[in-house]
Amino acid sequence: MTSPSTQLLDGKATAAAVRVEVQAATAALRDAHGLQPGLTVVLVGEDPASQVYVRNKDRAATEAGFQVDTVRLPATASQEELHAVVDRLNADPAVHGILVQLPLPAGLDSDAVIDRLDPAKDVDGLSPRSVAAWTLGRPGHRPCTPAGCLELMARYGLEVAGKHLVVIGRSMLVGKPIATLALERNATVTICHSRTQGLEDHCRRADILVAAVGRERMVKADWIRPGAVVLDVGINRGADGKLCGDVDTEAAMGVAGWITPVPGGVGPMTIAMLLRNTLCAAAASAGADGEALLAGAAGVAAG
Ligand code: NDP
Repeated sequence: MTSPSTQLLDGKATAAAVRVEVQAATAALRDAHGLQPGLTVVLVGEDPASQVYVRNKDRAATEAGFQVDTVRLPATASQEELHAVVDRLNADPAVHGILVQLPLPAGLDSDAVIDRLDPAKDVDGLSPRSVAAWTLGRPGHRPCTPAGCLELMARYGLEVAGKHLVVIGRSMLVGKPIATLALERNATVTICHSRTQGLEDHCRRADILVAAVGRERMVKADWIRPGAVVLDVGINRGADGKLCGDVDTEAAMGVAGWITPVPGGVGPMTIAMLLRNTLCAAAASAGADGEALLAGAAGVAAG
């Protein structure tokens, strides 16, 4: 069975709309509190993919009106040097968001670095206090990629409550938080991983299928329930040298109801959510409500 018209979930256009809202909320924060959101990215080593990601985040945050800095350390940096950078940024009142670009070079303990982040500035939502907050449903930063997936669906009017969401992958970055955030929104959730038996059958039962594996075009068209929403988180360099996701998108067209392209799907939404988290962190530092500023900006954009 096929779905006659698979529709694209355009992450690029949706992220652009979110970024306009963040820009307007940033201006409102500046006008009301004389405050400019500050985001500092910590980049250790020369990993080429990380350099590209950091450049994209830097550009988006600058466009939003943030003060953006990148602290670059050589791959030979010691754990103590890295901790000293985090301690300095934690104490700097002009820095509202700190992003430690992962993965760190071999030999550095990323858990110890993330544990050290001030939870208020942990705009990636990965530190233990942040994880506790999103697990308990308390206020705090939500991880950017899962939050971006759910925001994208919300902006297309796609329901999560009552739906069966199946995620392939159980990382702290994507799999576990999207399962938790979707559960909070009343989805029924299945988490699959490398030891899951009958993976394809689990996928076929999904109303919302999230692929977060990191394997080129692993999810085939016949794993997808006709009409399902497919969120392709994977970013892989295909055999042809081009970027591709974890889903065989070409084959999935005509089966899925909705699908995110790669590139131009989840990736831009991840950056947009990073901006939102940083704006909210800056607002909170002044005792203001970032969500309310963003809602006001969204209202103006819609009106
Ligand atoms: P990880 O490598 O941390 O996790 C991959 C997960 O996939 C693991 O849970 C693993 O299972 C599971 N897995 C591996 N092989 C199989 C298999 N054959 N069948 C079922 N499950 C399998 O990756 P991340 O979660 O960090 O990232 C996943 C992908 O998403 C990557 O391509 C990454 O580049 C991309 N990504 C994209 C972002 C974006 O903004 N678009 C942001 C973050 C990531 P197990 O736990 O058993 O090992």
